[in-house]
Amino acid sequence: MQARDRLRALPSVSALLAGAPGAALIERYGRPAATAALRAALDEARRAAVDGASDIGAPDALADRALAALASGDRSGLRPLYNLTGVILHTNLGRAQLADAAVEAATEAMRSAVALEFDLETGRRGERDDHLRALLRELSGAEDATIVNNNAAAVLLALNALACGREAIVSRGELIEIGGAFRMPEIMAQAGVKLVEVGTTNRTHLKDYRAALSPETGVMLKAHPSNYRIEGFVAEADPRELSALADEAGVPLMNDLGSGVLVDLARYGVTREPTVREAARHAGVVTFSGDKLLGGPQAGFIVGRRALIEKINRNPMKRALRVDKIRLAAIEATLKLYRDPERLEARLPTLRFIARAQAEVAALAQGLAPRVRAALGGSFSVEPVACRSQIGSGALPLDAIPSAGLAVAAAGGGGAIERLAAALRRLERPVVGRIEAGRLILDLRCLEDDEAFVANLQGLADGLA
Ligand SMILES: *Cc1c(COP(=O)(O)O)cnc(C)c1O
Repeated sequence: MQARDRLRALPSVSALLAGAPGAALIERYGRPAATAALRAALDEARRAAVDGASDIGAPDALADRALAALASGDRSGLRPLYNLTGVILHTNLGRAQLADAAVEAATEAMRSAVALEFDLETGRRGERDDHLRALLRELSGAEDATIVNNNAAAVLLALNALACGREAIVSRGELIEIGGAFRMPEIMAQAGVKLVEVGTTNRTHLKDYRAALSPETGVMLKAHPSNYRIEGFVAEADPRELSALADEAGVPLMNDLGSGVLVDLARYGVTREPTVREAARHAGVVTFSGDKLLGGPQAGFIVGRRALIEKINRNPMKRALRVDKIRLAAIEATLKLYRDPERLEARLPTLRFIARAQAEVAALAQGLAPRVRAALGGSFSVEPVACRSQIGSGALPLDAIPSAGLAVAAAGGGGAIERLAAALRRLERPVVGRIEAGRLILDLRCLEDDEAFVANLQGLADGLA
């Protein structure tokens, strides 16, 4: 056949739309998108026809290509994935996975009107934070509480409300960078407070804070070093004494805990951290995250003395940083789980992942190895291995949790492992591991549904070809 005849044999867009495959595309993606995709498939077929190809113009083949393009364009970048990186709270992968109770509460709140700022008793206007105030007071022991978008916002708002135009005294050992552009000195500048550094990188004493106090002091700030540790010849001021000094000077003491914990973590096999309750006992206000060790949605909490919280709530930035009904519902449901510590681990994915025994993960790796080997085909070896998970999000950076997983190696080399990792990321439910010394390590600590995991790998057949 001549190119001209091949072109003439191609169907028209309207004929394709009128046929059964066209109707199926319209049903699924709507007429404008179906038309555009069929037109693109036809353009491609026309170019191929000119180049001499003869078998690409059948209506079904064109519809299949349009469907593939529509399906891939329709796939969400936010679709669920398997986090097998070994970092439980991976900031780039959305940190905490929420408890079922939180998911259900958020879903209900999304679907309907709720009394967000409405008092059901009096029928008058209410306060959105009131839904959580009592619960946060109960769990933290603090007099009052307020909630904002994330902990960075909590720190910014609290500093601005308590000390704008004045000085903030901070230890040189606590001028931290958390990542994602959160650097304490920069946040302070944005909050309008003047940084007054005291002490040294490794040692700061009570007397350093005392010497820096002046009529210009607006706040004394303590910040949790989160993602790093200084060890050896170190000293920091005792929280009780620091708090007494702040009271004596009439200056609020703020403690940015970062990953605030509400329970004793030693129970879950990791290093004990001061809890929010303990911190709140020796500070005017304490700030912490919702989606780090607490295991809830992104949020920032400020708990502390009533007069300080009132001042923070009166700041106009509070309005700009407030939290919507969906998250408030999820936070409330998450916090309520803490009322029953016995069942917390079963219900809260973050703590469940942290506490999961290595033996259990190792057994999972043993069981999965042959099935994953079969799914990857002959060019890869798949072996169970011991590895170490991390909590992530700057929490307990030195705590490596003994874990287990699969080590995948390529027989061929030459970028085969990188290509496999890329194919895994393109799956219907992407699989994200980590490449270490030329092998792809899939840490199974956060994998709970192994059947679905194996079924999802069947999609690799095309990806690896
Ligand atoms: C993580 C962290 C923050 C920022 O919290 P986000 O919830 O990520 O906004 C602030 N301060 C400290 C000490 C942290 O560890």
